[in-house]
Amino acid sequence: MDSPRDVLKRVFGYDSFHPLQERVIRHVLEGKDALVLMPTGGGKSLCFQIPALLKSGMALVVSPLLALMRDQVEALKANGVAAATLNSSQDPDEAAGTLKAVYRGEVKLLYLSPERLFSETMEVHLREWPISLVAVDEAHCISFWGHDFRPEYTRLGELRALLPQAPFLALTATADPVIRRDILQGLAIPPEAVFQDSFDRPNLHLAVLPGRKRLERLLDFLAHRRNQSGIVYCLSRASTEDLAAKLNRQGFRAAAYHAGMDSPSRHRVQDSFLRDEILIICATIAFGMGIDKSNVRWLAHWNLPKNLESFYQEIGRAGRDGLPASTLLFYSYGDIINQKKFIEDADPSRRELLDAKLMRMKEYAEARSCRRRILLGYFGENVDRDCGFCDVCETPPETFDGTLPAQKLLSAVYRTGEQATLRQCALILRGVHAPDILQTRWERLKTFAVGRELSYEEWMEYGTQLVNGGYLSVAFDQKSALRLTPLAWPVLKGEKKVPLTRFQAYDKKKAAPPETAPAVTGGPLFTAQADPDLFERLRVLRKKLAEENNIPPFVIFSDRTLKDMAGRVPGTTGEFRQVYGVGEFKAQAYGPPFLRLIQEWSDRQPDGTQDPPGER
Ligand code: ADP
Ligand code: ZN
Repeated sequence: MDSPRDVLKRVFGYDSFHPLQERVIRHVLEGKDALVLMPTGGGKSLCFQIPALLKSGMALVVSPLLALMRDQVEALKANGVAAATLNSSQDPDEAAGTLKAVYRGEVKLLYLSPERLFSETMEVHLREWPISLVAVDEAHCISFWGHDFRPEYTRLGELRALLPQAPFLALTATADPVIRRDILQGLAIPPEAVFQDSFDRPNLHLAVLPGRKRLERLLDFLAHRRNQSGIVYCLSRASTEDLAAKLNRQGFRAAAYHAGMDSPSRHRVQDSFLRDEILIICATIAFGMGIDKSNVRWLAHWNLPKNLESFYQEIGRAGRDGLPASTLLFYSYGDIINQKKFIEDADPSRRELLDAKLMRMKEYAEARSCRRRILLGYFGENVDRDCGFCDVCETPPETFDGTLPAQKLLSAVYRTGEQATLRQCALILRGVHAPDILQTRWERLKTFAVGRELSYEEWMEYGTQLVNGGYLSVAFDQKSALRLTPLAWPVLKGEKKVPLTRFQAYDKKKAAPPETAPAVTGGPLFTAQADPDLFERLRVLRKKLAEENNIPPFVIFSDRTLKDMAGRVPGTTGEFRQVYGVGEFKAQAYGPPFLRLIQEWSDRQPDGTQDPPGER
């Protein structure tokens, strides 16, 4: 009999398991239940797919979303695995065909929607079929306290009585303890069967920019990512449309996506994105759940999300293939004010909690220490070193004695009678005759124009630091006017010094994408330096084959596979099989056209570069 590792290589084309995968697979092969908690992109699917291929009979996979099922079945078929789906959107002929195949024993993995699972006829079938295991994907849907509660999921426990022999495997990327408890109870999985992986996504680069000149900054960022897929999350429907239109005018293939669009339009946009026809989606949070696209290379938040859970889930949609991916968050005080308005509309009993969560989000955005440590700490993982792969780690903040600018700013706040906003204080210090300054006659204040040595951005930055340091507070209910706190007085009187962190001017160069991420568990990200020209040609070929076969390009090969191919430059079928993510089936199906392209490309290279180093 094959070992799990044989199947991993032969079918999926991977050399090694992630540590937790192997443990889960052994456990399930012993016939035991498991709850698997891994971040998005952590490799949950193999935890049930490999046991399903090794055991006799057929595995049932319950999944809440049609799109997700369709993608997984397509990906499995592309690897030559007998997978099929039964769901409520199929026409009767198609469903009948699938049922026949199941009865003939031709299906190894059957994906079912919960609605279909509890339809009347299904119980009869389930008693007949040799079910090897039951996998419950997106298992957090069982919990009323989760963000995607699905009432049908609460009935999944009933399956246990129907299928007493089959081990149950629940999988989710939500680590919340309450939700975990609900899953264990709902599916009667013993607590000792929990497998939890680190929630770190080391290939995601983390960066925050002040929310000024957002469009200009985004265009700088995109200038380095012309051919890459990405998502921009916006707060409102209108802004998704507005931004998509602006990006299109700049020559990008962008589209808006939000819940106000009709369902055919939404499907069209989503499909074109999966097929790399549209490269940029400007979306509200309605977009993303159920997107299995592995080559989303960057993700931007136009506005501050409401909490770190949402933020982390959203950025998790980038870089699922494990290659470096960039994330960018725009942040301004205005975002906080907007989010506060939403909180005011919320149920009173929840406001305090929502507010506390928003404050943690704000702390992340304003962080002066490694952002990944803050994120992981929030999810209960304490790491003892900085990541080296976030903007703070790359450009560590420098502190200086900021007493003088602090005094100027605090005094401006005092002289306006604590009626001015941070923006207005900055204008006063800079000596700008703005309409609202003239109207309030603040141009006559003693502090007017005493701070010309610093730029507007610098004043905004230091003002924010003074708020965070507790010297100033913001009266959100009074048009965000700044107020002095008791800590401000000793500074104004010259009795106390204020350390500030030096303002860092925006540097366009930093918009370039990260080439390599720190080593990810499970080995280095690249086997060799990929040739960018060859990579580009491989991408074009992949797109062409995808169109011919009517499947999304990443189902043929992931970006990571193409990168590895462009690094190894395989010349033979044997070498082609060594490429990351190339299994037996794909080597047969796609090997010839890719090898031909690589051969032609190599022939055109100057002498000496065709042969990669080492023996051949
Ligand atoms: P999840 O369901 O946890 O979000 P997936 O199961 O979709 O993640 O896996 C994410 C990506 O990582 C997929 O492209 C998958 O093929 C790949 N992957 C999973 N396990 C391994 C492994 N052991 N080695 C290499 N790649 C893997
Ligand atoms: Zn860091």
